[in-house]
Amino acid sequence: MSAADEQQPARPSPLHVDPAPATPPARRRGGPVPRRRRLTLDEYADGVRGGRRGVLAQAITLVESNHPQHLAQAQELLTRLMPGTGGAHRIGITGVPGVGKSTFIERFGLNLTGAGHRVAVLAVDPSSGLTGGSILGDKTRMMELSAEPNAFIRPSPSAGTLGGVAGKTREAMLVCEAAGFDVILIETVGVGQSETVVAEMTDFFLALMLPGAGDQLQGIKRGLLEFADLIAVNKADGPNLDAARRAAAEYRSVLHLLPRRPGNWSPPVLTCSARDNSGLDEIWEAIREHHAQAEQTGLLEVRRREQFLRWMWSMVDDQLQARLRAHPHIRSALPTLEDEVRAGRLPPTVAAHRLLEAFGIS
Ligand code: GDP
Repeated sequence: MSAADEQQPARPSPLHVDPAPATPPARRRGGPVPRRRRLTLDEYADGVRGGRRGVLAQAITLVESNHPQHLAQAQELLTRLMPGTGGAHRIGITGVPGVGKSTFIERFGLNLTGAGHRVAVLAVDPSSGLTGGSILGDKTRMMELSAEPNAFIRPSPSAGTLGGVAGKTREAMLVCEAAGFDVILIETVGVGQSETVVAEMTDFFLALMLPGAGDQLQGIKRGLLEFADLIAVNKADGPNLDAARRAAAEYRSVLHLLPRRPGNWSPPVLTCSARDNSGLDEIWEAIREHHAQAEQTGLLEVRRREQFLRWMWSMVDDQLQARLRAHPHIRSALPTLEDEVRAGRLPPTVAAHRLLEAFGIS
Protein backbone atom coordinates (compact mmCIF):
# COMPACT_ATOMS: atom_id res chain seq x y z
CA MET A 1 0.00 0.00 0.00
CA SER A 2 1.57 3.27 -1.02
CA ALA A 3 1.53 6.41 1.06
CA ALA A 4 -0.55 8.01 -1.68
CA ASP A 5 -3.39 5.67 -0.76
CA GLU A 6 -3.72 7.45 2.54
CA GLN A 7 -4.03 10.87 0.92
CA GLN A 8 -7.31 12.69 0.69
CA PRO A 9 -8.54 13.85 -2.70
CA ALA A 10 -8.54 17.66 -2.76
CA ARG A 11 -12.04 18.20 -4.17
CA PRO A 12 -14.51 19.35 -1.49
CA SER A 13 -17.49 17.07 -1.05
CA PRO A 14 -21.15 18.03 -0.69
CA LEU A 15 -21.40 15.12 1.74
CA HIS A 16 -19.07 16.69 4.25
CA VAL A 17 -20.62 16.40 7.69
CA ASP A 18 -19.72 17.20 11.24
CA PRO A 19 -18.92 16.08 13.81
CA ALA A 20 -15.90 13.96 13.03
CA PRO A 21 -16.48 10.20 13.28
CA ALA A 22 -16.17 8.53 16.68
CA THR A 23 -12.91 6.76 15.92
CA PRO A 24 -10.07 9.21 15.31
CA PRO A 25 -8.22 8.86 12.03
CA ALA A 26 -4.83 7.20 12.02
CA ARG A 27 -2.09 9.57 13.03
CA ARG A 28 0.29 10.42 10.27
CA ARG A 29 3.99 10.38 10.83
CA GLY A 30 4.84 13.03 13.39
CA GLY A 31 2.59 15.98 12.69
CA PRO A 32 -0.85 16.92 13.99
CA VAL A 33 -3.87 14.92 12.89
CA PRO A 34 -5.50 16.76 10.01
CA ARG A 35 -9.26 16.90 9.97
CA ARG A 36 -10.51 14.49 7.36
CA ARG A 37 -13.25 15.45 5.02
CA ARG A 38 -15.90 12.86 4.45
CA LEU A 39 -15.54 11.02 1.18
CA THR A 40 -18.26 10.63 -1.39
CA LEU A 41 -20.02 7.32 -1.71
CA ASP A 42 -18.12 6.53 -4.91
CA GLU A 43 -14.82 7.34 -3.26
CA TYR A 44 -15.64 5.05 -0.35
CA ALA A 45 -16.85 2.20 -2.54
CA ASP A 46 -14.00 2.41 -5.04
CA GLY A 47 -11.40 2.83 -2.31
CA VAL A 48 -12.67 -0.18 -0.37
CA ARG A 49 -12.91 -2.37 -3.46
CA GLY A 50 -9.44 -1.26 -4.47
CA GLY A 51 -8.15 -2.40 -1.06
CA ARG A 52 -6.89 1.07 -0.06
CA ARG A 53 -6.24 0.86 3.65
CA GLY A 54 -6.87 4.52 4.47
CA VAL A 55 -10.27 4.43 2.80
CA LEU A 56 -11.04 1.03 4.34
CA ALA A 57 -10.42 2.41 7.83
CA GLN A 58 -12.63 5.42 7.10
CA ALA A 59 -15.35 3.24 5.63
CA ILE A 60 -15.40 1.13 8.79
CA THR A 61 -15.60 4.27 10.89
CA LEU A 62 -18.56 5.33 8.78
CA VAL A 63 -20.46 2.05 9.14
CA GLU A 64 -19.69 1.98 12.87
CA SER A 65 -20.96 5.48 13.40
CA ASN A 66 -24.22 6.00 15.25
CA HIS A 67 -24.52 9.58 14.12
CA PRO A 68 -27.85 10.04 12.33
CA GLN A 69 -26.17 12.05 9.59
CA HIS A 70 -23.95 9.10 8.69
CA LEU A 71 -26.72 6.54 8.58
CA ALA A 72 -27.96 6.95 5.01
CA GLN A 73 -24.47 6.99 3.54
CA ALA A 74 -23.39 3.99 5.63
CA GLN A 75 -26.41 1.99 4.52
CA GLU A 76 -25.92 2.88 0.89
CA LEU A 77 -22.25 1.95 1.12
CA LEU A 78 -23.02 -1.45 2.65
CA THR A 79 -25.62 -2.11 -0.03
CA ARG A 80 -23.15 -1.28 -2.76
CA LEU A 81 -20.41 -3.40 -1.21
CA MET A 82 -22.64 -6.38 -0.54
CA PRO A 83 -22.05 -8.17 -3.87
CA GLY A 84 -18.32 -8.28 -3.12
CA THR A 85 -18.76 -9.96 0.28
CA GLY A 86 -18.94 -13.58 1.38
CA GLY A 87 -15.58 -14.72 0.09
CA ALA A 88 -13.77 -14.96 3.42
CA HIS A 89 -13.23 -17.54 6.09
CA ARG A 90 -15.01 -15.95 9.06
CA ILE A 91 -13.29 -17.21 12.17
CA GLY A 92 -14.12 -16.39 15.79
CA ILE A 93 -11.40 -16.81 18.42
CA THR A 94 -11.99 -16.78 22.15
CA GLY A 95 -10.08 -17.52 25.32
CA VAL A 96 -9.57 -16.13 28.80
CA PRO A 97 -7.26 -13.12 29.19
CA GLY A 98 -3.69 -14.40 29.21
CA VAL A 99 -4.35 -17.57 27.20
CA GLY A 100 -2.34 -16.06 24.36
CA LYS A 101 -4.94 -14.67 21.95
CA SER A 102 -2.83 -11.74 20.73
CA THR A 103 0.24 -13.91 20.39
CA PHE A 104 -1.77 -16.56 18.56
CA ILE A 105 -3.52 -14.15 16.20
CA GLU A 106 -0.28 -12.41 15.35
CA ARG A 107 1.56 -15.67 14.59
CA PHE A 108 -1.38 -17.28 12.83
CA GLY A 109 -1.99 -14.11 10.82
CA LEU A 110 1.66 -13.89 9.78
CA ASN A 111 1.63 -17.53 8.68
CA LEU A 112 -1.43 -16.80 6.56
CA THR A 113 -0.12 -13.58 5.00
CA GLY A 114 3.10 -15.48 4.34
CA ALA A 115 1.04 -18.00 2.38
CA GLY A 116 -0.56 -15.24 0.30
CA HIS A 117 -3.76 -14.65 2.30
CA ARG A 118 -5.12 -11.26 3.26
CA VAL A 119 -6.06 -11.18 6.91
CA ALA A 120 -8.31 -8.76 8.80
CA VAL A 121 -8.51 -8.80 12.59
CA LEU A 122 -11.59 -7.43 14.36
CA ALA A 123 -12.65 -7.58 17.97
CA VAL A 124 -15.80 -7.89 20.02
CA ASP A 125 -14.84 -6.56 23.40
CA PRO A 126 -17.63 -7.08 25.92
CA SER A 127 -16.20 -4.54 28.31
CA SER A 128 -16.09 -1.52 26.06
CA GLY A 129 -19.82 -0.89 26.08
CA LEU A 130 -20.14 -1.35 29.82
CA THR A 131 -17.25 0.35 31.49
CA GLY A 132 -15.50 2.23 28.76
CA GLY A 133 -12.50 0.03 29.56
CA SER A 134 -11.26 -2.84 27.51
CA ILE A 135 -10.68 -6.47 28.44
CA LEU A 136 -8.99 -7.24 25.16
CA GLY A 137 -6.69 -4.37 25.89
CA ASP A 138 -5.63 -1.22 24.19
CA LYS A 139 -2.02 -2.20 24.72
CA THR A 140 0.04 -2.13 21.62
CA ARG A 141 -0.73 -5.50 20.24
CA MET A 142 0.31 -7.49 17.23
CA MET A 143 2.97 -5.03 16.13
CA GLU A 144 4.49 -7.32 13.54
CA LEU A 145 1.18 -8.27 11.99
CA SER A 146 -0.01 -4.66 11.86
CA ALA A 147 3.08 -3.75 9.85
CA GLU A 148 2.21 -6.42 7.30
CA PRO A 149 0.73 -4.92 4.09
CA ASN A 150 -1.69 -7.85 3.68
CA ALA A 151 -3.07 -7.54 7.19
CA PHE A 152 -5.50 -5.06 8.66
CA ILE A 153 -6.10 -4.77 12.38
CA ARG A 154 -9.10 -2.85 13.61
CA PRO A 155 -9.12 -1.97 17.30
CA SER A 156 -12.35 -2.56 19.20
CA PRO A 157 -14.96 0.11 18.60
CA SER A 158 -14.97 2.97 21.06
CA ALA A 159 -16.94 2.81 24.28
CA GLY A 160 -20.64 3.42 24.19
CA THR A 161 -21.21 2.05 20.72
CA LEU A 162 -24.84 1.15 20.33
CA GLY A 163 -26.06 -2.11 18.89
CA GLY A 164 -25.40 -4.58 21.69
CA VAL A 165 -22.15 -6.22 22.52
CA ALA A 166 -21.30 -6.84 18.87
CA GLY A 167 -21.33 -3.13 18.14
CA LYS A 168 -20.94 -2.88 14.41
CA THR A 169 -18.46 -5.71 13.99
CA ARG A 170 -20.65 -7.47 11.45
CA GLU A 171 -20.72 -4.39 9.28
CA ALA A 172 -16.94 -4.01 9.60
CA MET A 173 -16.55 -7.65 8.60
CA LEU A 174 -18.52 -7.12 5.38
CA VAL A 175 -16.48 -4.04 4.51
CA CYS A 176 -13.26 -6.02 4.99
CA GLU A 177 -14.57 -8.80 2.76
CA ALA A 178 -15.45 -6.30 0.05
CA ALA A 179 -11.87 -5.03 0.34
CA GLY A 180 -10.64 -8.49 -0.57
CA PHE A 181 -9.62 -9.88 2.81
CA ASP A 182 -10.10 -13.62 2.62
CA VAL A 183 -9.57 -14.43 6.27
CA ILE A 184 -11.40 -12.48 8.98
CA LEU A 185 -10.37 -13.21 12.55
CA ILE A 186 -12.79 -11.92 15.19
CA GLU A 187 -11.35 -11.96 18.66
CA THR A 188 -13.39 -12.03 21.84
CA VAL A 189 -13.26 -13.13 25.44
CA GLY A 190 -15.69 -15.28 27.41
CA VAL A 191 -17.68 -12.62 29.19
CA GLY A 192 -21.46 -12.38 29.04
CA GLN A 193 -22.91 -12.99 25.63
CA SER A 194 -19.82 -12.07 23.64
CA GLU A 195 -18.89 -15.62 22.62
CA THR A 196 -22.39 -16.45 21.45
CA VAL A 197 -22.49 -13.19 19.55
CA VAL A 198 -19.21 -13.93 17.77
CA ALA A 199 -20.23 -17.53 17.02
CA GLU A 200 -23.38 -16.01 15.45
CA MET A 201 -21.40 -13.98 12.95
CA THR A 202 -18.70 -16.47 11.99
CA ASP A 203 -18.34 -19.79 10.15
CA PHE A 204 -15.91 -21.32 12.58
CA PHE A 205 -15.36 -20.82 16.29
CA LEU A 206 -11.97 -21.55 17.82
CA ALA A 207 -11.54 -21.79 21.59
CA LEU A 208 -8.04 -21.35 22.97
CA MET A 209 -7.45 -23.04 26.32
CA LEU A 210 -4.70 -23.10 28.88
CA PRO A 211 -2.90 -26.27 29.90
CA GLY A 212 -4.01 -27.72 33.23
CA ALA A 213 -7.34 -29.26 32.35
CA GLY A 214 -8.19 -30.72 35.75
CA ASP A 215 -8.83 -27.28 37.21
CA GLN A 216 -9.77 -25.73 33.91
CA LEU A 217 -12.74 -27.91 33.12
CA GLN A 218 -14.51 -26.74 36.23
CA GLY A 219 -14.46 -23.17 35.06
CA ILE A 220 -15.34 -23.73 31.42
CA LYS A 221 -18.78 -22.76 30.41
CA ARG A 222 -20.43 -25.87 29.06
CA GLY A 223 -21.97 -23.74 26.33
CA LEU A 224 -18.55 -22.97 24.92
CA LEU A 225 -17.75 -26.66 24.47
CA GLU A 226 -21.06 -27.04 22.73
CA PHE A 227 -20.38 -24.48 20.06
CA ALA A 228 -16.58 -24.47 19.67
CA ASP A 229 -15.60 -26.00 16.31
CA LEU A 230 -12.07 -26.60 17.49
CA ILE A 231 -10.37 -26.54 20.87
CA ALA A 232 -6.69 -25.68 20.91
CA VAL A 233 -4.72 -25.97 24.12
CA ASN A 234 -2.13 -23.21 23.76
CA LYS A 235 1.28 -22.87 25.44
CA ALA A 236 2.06 -26.52 24.65
CA ASP A 237 5.76 -25.87 24.97
CA GLY A 238 8.63 -26.33 27.44
CA PRO A 239 7.50 -27.49 30.86
CA ASN A 240 3.82 -27.10 29.90
CA LEU A 241 3.90 -29.73 27.20
CA ASP A 242 2.68 -32.67 29.29
CA ALA A 243 -0.02 -30.64 31.00
CA ALA A 244 -1.21 -29.42 27.61
CA ARG A 245 -1.47 -32.97 26.26
CA ARG A 246 -3.35 -34.12 29.35
CA ALA A 247 -5.71 -31.17 29.02
CA ALA A 248 -6.33 -32.03 25.37
CA ALA A 249 -7.14 -35.64 26.29
CA GLU A 250 -9.56 -34.45 28.91
CA TYR A 251 -11.35 -32.09 26.52
CA ARG A 252 -11.57 -34.91 23.99
CA SER A 253 -13.30 -37.15 26.47
CA VAL A 254 -15.79 -34.43 27.39
CA LEU A 255 -16.50 -33.52 23.75
CA HIS A 256 -17.16 -37.16 23.07
CA LEU A 257 -20.23 -36.96 25.24
CA LEU A 258 -21.70 -34.02 23.37
CA PRO A 259 -23.92 -34.36 20.34
CA ARG A 260 -22.32 -34.07 16.91
CA ARG A 261 -22.45 -30.77 15.06
CA PRO A 262 -24.35 -29.93 11.93
CA GLY A 263 -22.75 -31.68 8.99
CA ASN A 264 -21.47 -34.35 11.37
CA TRP A 265 -18.48 -32.17 12.28
CA SER A 266 -16.59 -33.58 15.19
CA PRO A 267 -14.60 -30.73 16.82
CA PRO A 268 -10.91 -31.62 16.97
CA VAL A 269 -8.89 -30.96 20.11
CA LEU A 270 -5.33 -29.94 19.27
CA THR A 271 -2.36 -28.55 21.12
CA CYS A 272 -0.31 -25.60 19.91
CA SER A 273 2.28 -23.08 20.90
CA ALA A 274 1.66 -19.62 19.53
CA ARG A 275 5.04 -18.60 20.91
CA ASP A 276 6.93 -21.32 19.05
CA ASN A 277 4.62 -21.36 16.03
CA SER A 278 3.91 -25.06 16.44
CA GLY A 279 0.55 -26.70 15.78
CA LEU A 280 -0.79 -23.62 13.99
CA ASP A 281 -0.70 -25.20 10.54
CA GLU A 282 -2.80 -28.10 11.81
CA ILE A 283 -5.37 -25.64 13.12
CA TRP A 284 -5.54 -23.90 9.73
CA GLU A 285 -5.90 -27.30 8.04
CA ALA A 286 -8.86 -28.14 10.27
CA ILE A 287 -10.47 -24.77 9.50
CA ARG A 288 -10.05 -25.37 5.78
CA GLU A 289 -11.46 -28.85 6.04
CA HIS A 290 -14.48 -27.56 7.95
CA HIS A 291 -14.99 -24.83 5.36
CA ALA A 292 -14.70 -27.19 2.40
CA GLN A 293 -17.12 -29.61 4.00
CA ALA A 294 -19.63 -26.86 4.81
CA GLU A 295 -19.37 -25.48 1.29
CA GLN A 296 -19.87 -28.87 -0.26
CA THR A 297 -22.92 -29.74 1.78
CA GLY A 298 -24.41 -26.27 1.38
CA LEU A 299 -24.40 -25.79 5.16
CA LEU A 300 -22.16 -22.74 4.91
CA GLU A 301 -24.69 -20.91 2.77
CA VAL A 302 -27.59 -21.97 4.97
CA ARG A 303 -25.79 -20.92 8.13
CA ARG A 304 -24.85 -17.52 6.73
CA ARG A 305 -28.37 -16.83 5.48
CA GLU A 306 -29.83 -17.71 8.86
CA GLN A 307 -27.24 -15.51 10.57
CA PHE A 308 -28.23 -12.59 8.34
CA LEU A 309 -31.90 -13.01 9.16
CA ARG A 310 -31.21 -13.16 12.90
CA TRP A 311 -28.95 -10.12 12.51
CA MET A 312 -31.81 -8.22 10.87
CA TRP A 313 -34.19 -9.10 13.68
CA SER A 314 -31.71 -8.25 16.39
CA MET A 315 -31.27 -4.82 14.78
CA VAL A 316 -35.03 -4.38 14.75
CA ASP A 317 -35.27 -5.46 18.40
CA ASP A 318 -32.46 -3.14 19.50
CA GLN A 319 -33.79 -0.15 17.65
CA LEU A 320 -37.39 -0.65 18.62
CA GLN A 321 -36.38 -0.76 22.24
CA ALA A 322 -34.09 2.25 21.90
CA ARG A 323 -36.88 4.29 20.30
CA LEU A 324 -39.43 3.10 22.78
CA ARG A 325 -37.24 4.16 25.69
CA ALA A 326 -36.63 7.53 24.07
CA HIS A 327 -40.34 8.23 23.51
CA PRO A 328 -41.39 11.25 25.65
CA HIS A 329 -44.54 9.62 27.12
CA ILE A 330 -42.61 6.54 28.04
CA ARG A 331 -39.70 8.43 29.51
CA SER A 332 -42.01 10.29 31.84
CA ALA A 333 -44.08 7.23 32.79
CA LEU A 334 -41.23 4.78 33.16
CA PRO A 335 -39.85 5.59 36.64
CA THR A 336 -43.28 5.22 38.31
CA LEU A 337 -44.11 2.16 36.28
CA GLU A 338 -40.83 0.48 37.17
CA ASP A 339 -41.34 1.33 40.85
CA GLU A 340 -44.78 -0.24 40.75
CA VAL A 341 -43.45 -3.41 39.12
CA ARG A 342 -40.50 -3.60 41.51
CA ALA A 343 -42.82 -3.24 44.49
CA GLY A 344 -45.04 -6.03 43.19
CA ARG A 345 -48.10 -3.74 42.93
CA LEU A 346 -48.38 -3.92 39.16
CA PRO A 347 -48.09 -7.20 37.25
CA PRO A 348 -45.20 -7.01 34.72
CA THR A 349 -47.52 -8.08 31.95
CA VAL A 350 -49.85 -5.14 32.64
CA ALA A 351 -46.90 -2.74 32.79
CA ALA A 352 -45.54 -4.08 29.48
CA HIS A 353 -48.95 -3.61 27.89
CA ARG A 354 -49.12 -0.01 29.11
CA LEU A 355 -45.68 0.77 27.73
CA LEU A 356 -46.56 -0.61 24.33
CA GLU A 357 -49.84 1.25 24.42
CA ALA A 358 -48.06 4.51 25.17
CA PHE A 359 -45.83 3.77 22.18
CA GLY A 360 -48.87 3.13 20.03
CA ILE A 361 -48.25 -0.56 19.28
CA SER A 362 -50.44 -2.49 21.65
P1 GDP B 1 -4.23 -12.62 25.60
O1 GDP B 1 -4.49 -11.84 26.84
O2 GDP B 1 -5.10 -13.82 25.51
O3 GDP B 1 -4.24 -11.79 24.35
O4 GDP B 1 -2.75 -13.22 25.75
P2 GDP B 1 -1.33 -12.70 25.22
O5 GDP B 1 -1.14 -13.05 23.80
O6 GDP B 1 -1.17 -11.28 25.62
O7 GDP B 1 -0.34 -13.64 26.04
C1 GDP B 1 -0.33 -13.67 27.46
C2 GDP B 1 1.04 -14.18 27.91
O8 GDP B 1 1.20 -15.53 27.49
C3 GDP B 1 2.19 -13.39 27.32
O9 GDP B 1 3.18 -13.26 28.32
C4 GDP B 1 2.66 -14.27 26.19
O10 GDP B 1 4.04 -14.09 25.91
C5 GDP B 1 2.39 -15.67 26.73
N1 GDP B 1 2.16 -16.64 25.66
C6 GDP B 1 1.32 -16.50 24.60
N2 GDP B 1 1.36 -17.62 23.83
C7 GDP B 1 2.24 -18.46 24.41
C8 GDP B 1 2.71 -19.79 24.10
O11 GDP B 1 2.35 -20.41 23.10
N3 GDP B 1 3.59 -20.35 24.97
C9 GDP B 1 4.02 -19.71 26.08
N4 GDP B 1 4.88 -20.36 26.87
N5 GDP B 1 3.61 -18.46 26.40
C10 GDP B 1 2.73 -17.85 25.58
